[in-house]
Amino acid sequence: MLTQIEHAKLMMLRAAWEKDRGREYVAAASFAKLFAGELSHRVVNEALQIHGGYGFMDEYPISRMYRDQKINEIGEGTNEVQRLILARLMGL
Ligand SMILES: Cc1cc2nc3c(=O)[nH]c(=O)nc-3n(C[C@H](O)[C@H](O)[C@H](O)COP(=O)(O)OP(=O)(O)OC[C@H]3O[C@@H](n4cnc5c(N)ncnc54)[C@H](O)[C@@H]3O)c2cc1C
Repeated sequence: MLTQIEHAKLMMLRAAWEKDRGREYVAAASFAKLFAGELSHRVVNEALQIHGGYGFMDEYPISRMYRDQKINEIGEGTNEVQRLILARLMGL
């Protein structure tokens, strides 16, 4: 999980690096947003599974993280919208 989170961070930094240099960054930003959003779902789902039944209880922070994660795939451009942006940039 940490390996993939590091991957997502590097994608985000790549997009920021392109923007800081005044270069085209929309594709890099969309790749990073899509990857990180979908990854957050996989990671939090796996983390909850490790907790077993406790992961389902409100007393455990992972239960709240599981619910909160979804905004990463909806806010500031949904996964579908990121795919549309990338498809257009590829001329599809
Ligand atoms: C907690 C929370 C905080 C928010 N904060 C803000 C904020 O601060 N500022 C702000 O501006 N907005 C905010 N939003 C709104 C958020 O940006 C929108 O919910 C998001 O952009 C999706 O828009 P929608 O809800 O109108 O869904 P819709 O546009 O109705 O889309 C519904 C579903 O259909 C998919 N879809 C839509 N069009 C297509 C298409 N052409 N092809 C394929 N799939 C498609 C979408 O990806 C989505 O899964 C917030 C939302 C939430 C839940």
